[in-house]
Amino acid sequence: NASSVSLADAAYVKISEGDFGYVLDDVPHLVDHLPDAPTYPNPLQDHPAYSTVKQYFVNEDDTVPQKVVVQKSSRRGVHFRRAGPRQRVYFESDEVKACIVTCGGLCPGLNTVIRELVCGLSHMYNVSKIYGIQNGYKGFYSSNYLTLTPKSVDDIHKRGGTVLGTSRGGHDTKKIVDNIQDRGINQVYIIGGDGTQKGAYEIFKEIRKRGLKVSVAGVPKTIDNDIAIIDKSFGFDTAVEEAQRAIDSAHVEACSAENGIGLVKLMGRYSGFIAMYATLASRDVDCCLIPESPFYMDGEGGLLQYVEKRLKENKHMVIVVAEGAGQDLIAKSLSASEQQDASGNKLLLDIGLWLTHKIKDHFKSKKMEMTIKYIDPTYMIRAIPSNASDNVYCTLLAHSAIHGAMAGYSFTVGNVNGRHAYIPFYRVTSTRNKVKITDRMWARLLSSTNQPSFLSQKDIDEAKETDRTANKPPLPSGLSHHVAN
Ligand code: ATP
Ligand code: MG
Repeated sequence: NASSVSLADAAYVKISEGDFGYVLDDVPHLVDHLPDAPTYPNPLQDHPAYSTVKQYFVNEDDTVPQKVVVQKSSRRGVHFRRAGPRQRVYFESDEVKACIVTCGGLCPGLNTVIRELVCGLSHMYNVSKIYGIQNGYKGFYSSNYLTLTPKSVDDIHKRGGTVLGTSRGGHDTKKIVDNIQDRGINQVYIIGGDGTQKGAYEIFKEIRKRGLKVSVAGVPKTIDNDIAIIDKSFGFDTAVEEAQRAIDSAHVEACSAENGIGLVKLMGRYSGFIAMYATLASRDVDCCLIPESPFYMDGEGGLLQYVEKRLKENKHMVIVVAEGAGQDLIAKSLSASEQQDASGNKLLLDIGLWLTHKIKDHFKSKKMEMTIKYIDPTYMIRAIPSNASDNVYCTLLAHSAIHGAMAGYSFTVGNVNGRHAYIPFYRVTSTRNKVKITDRMWARLLSSTNQPSFLSQKDIDEAKETDRTANKPPLPSGLSHHVAN
């Protein structure tokens, strides 16, 4: 009996032989909920927004599937709880004490999420006790809490950065939860990247261990768009838009010199989404290099040969490189051992500078006149305020986070196939979202830039095999395929 299986996220039930594959078991425990059932009527039922919507409250059993397109008879895979306001809430408005923290690197939209959390809690749920934790996780135990009100956050979305400050390192789970407990905080909103969400999961587990009635809501932040499962992270749109300016400048530089090359380095430690989308959007880029697609410099079909060919054909070219691309090539040419930042992330070697030197040396040895201009806009892009589309997305994420926390859930919030969902923490931190070089999007890019793929048939076969195995969601243990009656 499937209902006896307590599952962190999903189970599969086959609905009928051979037609539609598997759907979710109808008693999933998708994200953690506080022990008792929510008892209070949702104050939103008195809100003007409520009266205009046909079905305002989200049905507790509504789920969002991770995969939309499935092959005939194949499993539908994992579903998540649909986000949104619940009929009943776990906390009464005046007992809520919420806090907000931002951790990790900057990303456009942080201030918008902070603002909408404060305004949403205040305007939708009449919550008045909202605190800001300063400078990341360590601020829980080393700084004063700020009091946040709709008035104090009124125009912060027009500024880049985070008004709360941020940091890396300093995650001391015990001290953090001691402070949450001592101050009577019962809703913790945590905005940050993969490291931050891992930290949120640790906080959540410690809170459960101590039996505290506290909801932990993660809002995933990554400008690189590399967080697993979710469609898109906030700030990504803004980053791609801003990257266009750098590419435009590189193009102007390249066109204005004989054999001019404009080289732009964009964010993307492990995932080349920004580089890929900026390239597709710009149409001025002749070559896009990302971490997922290995490339080589010398010899037949190598980058240097392609650069030479493009200059001969076109007299100028633009190259976009993601910061994590070609790290293996630089590592080989340097003796530098692995370096780490305060959070334990591997420090990246500057691929942009390295490429600049390599290309210069190459043309010098060929006695061919050329000019290369290297533009690194990464820190400028991170620091700008979010654009219109990201502002809307940040607002919806904040609202979904509030509804879930009010209902007593602990989760990471995100858009999955266009629907907001509550996702268990470990699901978003256990893998990273990467550009699939065997997918259509990368093929579209290659056909738009006309660059070589730099891949051998063996590389391609290996990548396809990796995808094939990665695409199979495992059945949760203890569950075989239940055939529904
Ligand atoms: P980004 O890398 O996008 O800038 P991030 O959230 O991954 O964002 P990190 O600096 O890696 O940034 O981590 C942010 C915070 O999360 C830090 O305070 C760090 O101590 C904490 N953290 C990172 N990894 C873990 C972990 N495995 N367990 C607990 N805390 C962690
Ligand atoms: Mg990170």
